[in-house]
Amino acid sequence: DTAEVVVVGSLNMDLVVRTPRHPVPGETLLGHGFATTPGGKGANQAVAAARLGAATAMVGCLGDDTHGRALRDNLSQQGICHQAVRTSAAGATGVAMIQVDDASQNSIVVIPGSNAELTPDDVDAAEALLASAKLVVCQLEVPLETVCRALERARAHGATTLLNAAPAMALPGELLALVDWLVVNESEAEALSGCPVADPDQAARAIARLQALGCRRVLITLGAQGVVAGLESGLHHAPARPVAAVDTTGAGDTFVGAFAAALARGAEVATALQEGQAAAAIAVTRPGAQAAIPHRHELPPVTP
Ligand code: ATP
Repeated sequence: DTAEVVVVGSLNMDLVVRTPRHPVPGETLLGHGFATTPGGKGANQAVAAARLGAATAMVGCLGDDTHGRALRDNLSQQGICHQAVRTSAAGATGVAMIQVDDASQNSIVVIPGSNAELTPDDVDAAEALLASAKLVVCQLEVPLETVCRALERARAHGATTLLNAAPAMALPGELLALVDWLVVNESEAEALSGCPVADPDQAARAIARLQALGCRRVLITLGAQGVVAGLESGLHHAPARPVAAVDTTGAGDTFVGAFAAALARGAEVATALQEGQAAAAIAVTRPGAQAAIPHRHELPPVTP
């Protein structure tokens, strides 16, 4: 039980409904498509790390139901170690109800289900895995106390910690102090820093605020505007690769997983940023979330 990248986080079944428009309260509409696809930020990031070449394991919690079994099979197919993914008899597997209208606008309801049952004890049970990890990656779709324990145990074993603080919520200072890499998108950066973050200049101000709160290295992803990084060496803006985006779902998860895989391999930060963005740029040119995540051989060569 070893892995270079360990993701402690959520697994959901995405139930995607296609509808001509969003129904108003009380209305029933006829839609024109339905699909179930594996999702959840934790699982998406684990798939990205695995496809980008890292030996990857997940710590998570599934329900004892059809969705849970399908999500576990999916981890197997992706080559992700799931021995630390517990099956709970109590709750149903997490689901995300996603409605997509003909203008590609979506509205989403997430039912955390068994993800809410992932406890600090589950993290402790995965001690050997965490001890083997180079990088431990968390998001905020599982209980905060569990995230805290994962970051704390990762630190104790000398692993690098990465928190993708999504979905946005207030975070205690002692949690931020356990984070080596904080990765947030525009709205999460705004929620955490209290600053508007619409462009790289504003992102730079938000990073200064977050660093004052104790986050040493902060990455703010800005969609087609790329990433602004606040590092020990100062601020860097890495522009995104220009592509024709067709579906940006999962862009952030692809970036995080690919960046983590590169760091775990020992790549320089500049290379990891480039690979993360190259992987995310490919993902936005394809439909779907996990389905869109590229493999390492699809990335363009890294430029100095
Ligand atoms: P999502 O919630 O859609 O998964 P996010 O809001 O978490 O994404 P973004 O900041 O939108 O994350 O995107 C993450 C990274 O993906 C960006 O920093 C960029 O490298 C890449 N990316 C996103 N959108 C585009 C785009 N239109 N063109 C090129 N690269 C993109």
